[in-house]
Amino acid sequence: MIPFTLQATDADSGARAGTFQTDHGAVNTPVFMPVGTYGAVKTVTPEEVETAGGRIILGNTYHLYLRPGLEVIRHAGGLHEFMGWNNALLTDSGGFQVFSLAKLNNITDAGVTFQSHIDGSRHYFDPRQSMQIQRILGSDIMMAFDECPPYPAERAYAEEAMQRTHRWAEQCLEYTAAEGPIYGHTQYLFGIVQGSTFPDLRRMSAAHLTSLGFDGYAIGGVAVGEPKQELRQMTALTASLLPEEQPRYLMGVGKPADIVESIAAGVDMFDCVIPTRNARNGLVYTPDGRLPVRNATSADDHTPIDPDCTCYTCRHFTRAYLRHLLNVNEILGHRLATLHNLQFFLDLAGAARAAILESRFGAWKTEFLRRYRENGE
Ligand SMILES: [Zn+2]
Repeated sequence: MIPFTLQATDADSGARAGTFQTDHGAVNTPVFMPVGTYGAVKTVTPEEVETAGGRIILGNTYHLYLRPGLEVIRHAGGLHEFMGWNNALLTDSGGFQVFSLAKLNNITDAGVTFQSHIDGSRHYFDPRQSMQIQRILGSDIMMAFDECPPYPAERAYAEEAMQRTHRWAEQCLEYTAAEGPIYGHTQYLFGIVQGSTFPDLRRMSAAHLTSLGFDGYAIGGVAVGEPKQELRQMTALTASLLPEEQPRYLMGVGKPADIVESIAAGVDMFDCVIPTRNARNGLVYTPDGRLPVRNATSADDHTPIDPDCTCYTCRHFTRAYLRHLLNVNEILGHRLATLHNLQFFLDLAGAARAAILESRFGAWKTEFLRRYRENGE
């Protein structure tokens, strides 16, 4: 089991502060994990991620399998070496991208045949293949291969996908037990609870997966287009069904308010592309809500995005300058906006953690949400 210590739990909610240990360092929770789809957090260096406080990032199995391919990464000595990142890495199973991005040819109980979204070439993923790819990537945390139904899903299909996910989860455990890590460091394996928006399926899935004994558990199949209320309900329900002594990871979430509410529900780990993607679209985050910094209101505004932010961008540059860079499509604009947004999301998880440790999470959450929501989401 992944070494995980709980330092504090909030008296009035499910929020908790903990630390899990990997062979590439300790990670304090709650934690936000920047997404490095192709082995890079878009526009920033690993050192910059680390300076912002990032201690774990996510790599995408599907994308890295297609490009540059496994041989190159294996010859590099794994993804840590290849991308120059010495902290923890988590890789997804490839399932989500296969089901959402690739052209599906055939899904059977054995696995999935699909065509690459890049060149149409045919590939096959099954639990063994997903584990094999993640072994070669060498992530500290691997995710079990799963099927994530889109929203809305018919109950019958949601149940079928869940049952398949359960069988695949067993195969992932068997394969991982039989084949050790390649590069000498420990690789942990997390199971993924599915069940779409059906509470009874969520209960069934959590019960089955926890009986198998994974290192940690993810809540999958949320943030796939369902209304916010359902996202919150499924997250809270599923988190309450997972073992207290192991990390809980909410996949693909999300917006700051959703992260804060999910921390209150007992979630420890988050990942999402929105800080980096929105940065490149000129949307930056402040304690007072999102700021479309390209708007005319920033044209002559010579103040930082957030005067209290410690990031490189806020220490040196103004909204007017950032708006100018983005409007003339200077790459530096993308970098500066990304650095700030990463800092905001990393600091958000860090502030929640500090509040939990100091027994003031409820008051912190109320104040954060009040201020953040005055300008919408
Ligand atoms: Zn900043």
